[in-house]
Amino acid sequence: MGRKLKYKYNPLQMISLLIIGLSIAAMMALLADSTRSVFTVSINGKSMGQVQSKNEIYKIVDSVEKDLSRKYGTEATVNEEMILFSKAKVTEIAPINEEAVVQELSKSENSYLKSWVMTVNGDKIVALNSEEKAGQLLKDIKKHYLKEGSRYLDVSFKEAVEIHEKNIHANELFDYDDALRYVLTGTTEMKEHQVKKGESLWTIAEKYKISLEDLETANPDTDPDKLQIGEKISLVIPKPYLTVVTTEKAVVSEKIMFKTTYEKTEALYEGEEQIKKDGIFGVKEIETQVKRENGEIVSTENIDSTIIKEPLNQIVLLGTKAIPSSLGTGALDNPSRGTLTSVFGRRWGRMHSGIDIANKEGTPIMAADGGVVTFSGWKGNYGLLVIISHGNNRTTYYGHCNEILVSKGDVVEKGQVIAKMGNTGNATGVHLHFEVRVDDVPQDPLKYVEYTIN
Ligand SMILES: [Zn+2]
Repeated sequence: MGRKLKYKYNPLQMISLLIIGLSIAAMMALLADSTRSVFTVSINGKSMGQVQSKNEIYKIVDSVEKDLSRKYGTEATVNEEMILFSKAKVTEIAPINEEAVVQELSKSENSYLKSWVMTVNGDKIVALNSEEKAGQLLKDIKKHYLKEGSRYLDVSFKEAVEIHEKNIHANELFDYDDALRYVLTGTTEMKEHQVKKGESLWTIAEKYKISLEDLETANPDTDPDKLQIGEKISLVIPKPYLTVVTTEKAVVSEKIMFKTTYEKTEALYEGEEQIKKDGIFGVKEIETQVKRENGEIVSTENIDSTIIKEPLNQIVLLGTKAIPSSLGTGALDNPSRGTLTSVFGRRWGRMHSGIDIANKEGTPIMAADGGVVTFSGWKGNYGLLVIISHGNNRTTYYGHCNEILVSKGDVVEKGQVIAKMGNTGNATGVHLHFEVRVDDVPQDPLKYVEYTIN
C-alpha cells in the first residue's frame, strides 16, 4: 500500500506566508532608494575614500607588502595600525583611489622591513636585508685590512660587534656596498680625484685643502713616488666605525755584525793597518708577532731568533816595524802657511781635537816630520785625510784636504808636500785641520808647532 501526500495549506499558514512576502518587499524597497553602510578609510589621518568591505583594503595591503618584499629583498609588513576604518551610511559611495592607497601604504614610515642590524658597542650602524649579507659584511671589513701573503694568528674587532634581527623602515636599509663603505670610512660618499700630468699627492692635498697626512691615510696603498696619470685618489678621510685588530707572524732577516781580530806583523810600519781578511756579516732570522689596528702597527714582539749563518771575523794586520829613526826627528815643523782660526780644546760644547789653519784652496800641506803614511783617503767629518806615523807612538793628522798626493805605506820626509788645502768633510771654509797624537790621544798642537793667534 502506498502513501499519498497532500499539498494543501490551511488559512493560518496562508496568512504567515503573506506577511513574510510583504516584509521582503518592504526591505527591498528600503534598500533600493535610501542609504547603505560603508567604511570610510583613513591612513595616517589622511582620508582615502570609502569601501564596502575592509577586505578591499587588506587586499591592497597584501599586494603592497608583496611589492615591498620584492623591492627590498626581505619580508615587508605594512603597519596596519595606521589604517582606520569608520562606519558610515551613505547614499552614494565615494570610492577609494587605489593608486593613492598603494602610494600611501608604500611610504617608508608606514611599513617595516625585516632586517639585520650591525651594532658597535650597542650603537646601530648599518642595516642589511639578510643575515648572510650581515655576516659577509663583518668578513669583508676584516678582509679590508688583511694583506696577502701574511700569516695571521688572530683577526678580531676591538669593539663589541653584534648582529640583531630588527624591523626597520626602508629608508634605514643600506645597500651592501654602501654599508661596507660606511663602516670603513664613516660615510657612503665617494669623492675621488683622477691624477693629471704633473700632479703629486702634495699638489692634490693643496688643491682640496686636505693635509698630506690625511690624504695618505685615505690612500694607504698609494705610493707617493709612483703616482700614475689617471690613478684615482680618494678624497674621503676615513673615520672607521670599527677597529680590526690583527696579529700576524712575520719572519725578518737581520744582519749579524762581524768581529775584528788583530794580528801583528813586521811587514807594516808601526801605526799602519791592513785588512788581511774581510769580515762577512752573519744572518739571523727573527720571528716576530706584529699587532696592527686597521693596518697600523701598534706593537712588534720578538718571539724567536735563529742564526742562519754565523758571521766571519775580519782580520786586521797591525804593523810593528819601527819607523826608521832617521825619519822622525821628534821636532815638528808647521804643516802649512796660513792663519790660525781655531785652537785646541773645547769649542761650542764639543772637543776640538786639533787646530785649524786657514788659507787659499790648494795651499800646500807639508809633513810636519818624517814618517810613514798610515792612512790616506776619506774619513767621515775629516773629509780627505792623511795620517802620518812618526814612530814612538806619535802621529799627525791632516784633514779637510782638497787633494792628497801620498798613498798609504809611503815613506815621507819632513817638509814634503803631502796634500793640498781644501774644505772636504765637515768643514766651514777652506782650512787645514791639524792634529798631533801621542798614543792615539790628541795633544795641543801649539806645544809642537808655532802659529800666532790673530
Ligand atoms: Zn779643526
